[in-house]
Amino acid sequence: MDYLPVSWRITGQTVLLVGGGEIALRKARLLDRAGARLRLVAPEVEPDLAALVEQGGGEIRHRVFAADQLDGVLLALAATDDEAVNRAVSEAAQARGIPVNVVDNPPLCTFIFPAIVDRDPLIISISSGGASPVAARWVRSRIESLIPARWGRLAALMGSRRKRLAEKLPSVSARRLFWEKVIDGAVAEQTLAGQEDAAAAELDAAIEAADADKLMRGEVYLVGAGPGDADLLTFRALRLLQKADVVVYDRLVSPGVLELARRDAELVYVGKKRAEHVLPQDDINRLLVDYARQGKKVCRLKGGDPFIFGRGGEELEQVVEAGIDFQVVPGVTAAAGCAAYAGIPLTHRDHAQSVRFITGHRKENGELNLPWSDFLTPSETLVFYMGLVSLPAISAGLIMAGRSPDTPAALISRGTLSGQRVIKGTLGTLPDTVAEASPEAPSLLIIGDVVGLYPRYRWFEDGEG
Ligand code: SAH
Repeated sequence: MDYLPVSWRITGQTVLLVGGGEIALRKARLLDRAGARLRLVAPEVEPDLAALVEQGGGEIRHRVFAADQLDGVLLALAATDDEAVNRAVSEAAQARGIPVNVVDNPPLCTFIFPAIVDRDPLIISISSGGASPVAARWVRSRIESLIPARWGRLAALMGSRRKRLAEKLPSVSARRLFWEKVIDGAVAEQTLAGQEDAAAAELDAAIEAADADKLMRGEVYLVGAGPGDADLLTFRALRLLQKADVVVYDRLVSPGVLELARRDAELVYVGKKRAEHVLPQDDINRLLVDYARQGKKVCRLKGGDPFIFGRGGEELEQVVEAGIDFQVVPGVTAAAGCAAYAGIPLTHRDHAQSVRFITGHRKENGELNLPWSDFLTPSETLVFYMGLVSLPAISAGLIMAGRSPDTPAALISRGTLSGQRVIKGTLGTLPDTVAEASPEAPSLLIIGDVVGLYPRYRWFEDGEG
């Protein structure tokens, strides 16, 4: 990091601005909004600029720059089109230890102005450290479109009630939880809709009714993290993930998703590779309850969807038993994610009228006891989760029961992630092809005529074959 971002209170302080044209005017507006007293130095000054400086109680010196104009100045800015003048301002200011900015000339600056998203009193500054103003502006325009224009009004309303809430709720954590609820609730909706009086009344009532015990009660969120690509999270998953004090996750949850947790959240890894559970399931179930009992918001992140081969039910059992509040958030299950990112429709009017999700996980004794004769409908797509190790047994079981060995079949490894691979063959050939390709985990098996459409609808950059 080459520059330290700070928000600096400069109200009433003198700022030297050298330059009398359009660029100086832009800087003058910004400084004026921050309450600075401007000292403008330029032989000629545009009328708009002169008016602004005078209205703000500043002074105008109609002359060329000289070092003594830096007397009593907090900051100095050079905004002229004369390189020599800009350099002189920069050198003189630096000699006196005064922070200086020369517009569009980073080497002459000791500080730079970030791009800002202005939702006063909420100000978001974005800086690329001078490396790429275009990149900073792009990010700014994205953020502009994300944050409603009236967001600043909400921040101001919340600010106006901070003291009152602090009197009602001495606990800092309880207050944080209170404000988080406000941001997600009716007060925010009303403010953003322009009904500020109603919002203020609603907020006052909420402060009146605020109850620290209730706010501090732990909760468990059982959240589907999707198959890997963080873009596939739901908004709800994201919101709860950012609210959680503790995030309990396992191997299938991708680093991209974990990065979205709150910076100060405790991240607890509970493993789960085939046959190598870092924490036994019982302990995971108990862990969720223990954290919630400490008053924490616990996000249990599961790969894909928590209720599809995710043991979601088991993990909730003790939570329900303990009477702890919980929510369940669905996720994009691996079948849906892999199919979409491989361009294999799971159903298709011409090829498949139904789809079946099956676990290929073997029992402890190594057996794969599946009702093979239920899986013979040619117009049904079969999706096997946890099927890599059992692939030879799955292929043999289906063929023996009567499904055609020519049925198209594919194994998708690391679906939706960079490094996704689609290995295509038939029910008969796939075990050998896969053995040769030795794909990475996790991987999903799709069997049925729809696989024959691959790679016609391929769009995601994956390693084929
Ligand atoms: N609850 C999860 C499934 C957990 S079982 C869900 O709804 O997706 C774990 C199995 O899911 C893995 O063995 C693999 O078969 C499949 N899987 C999960 N993520 C995957 C991915 N990114 N690519 C391929 N298969 C995946």
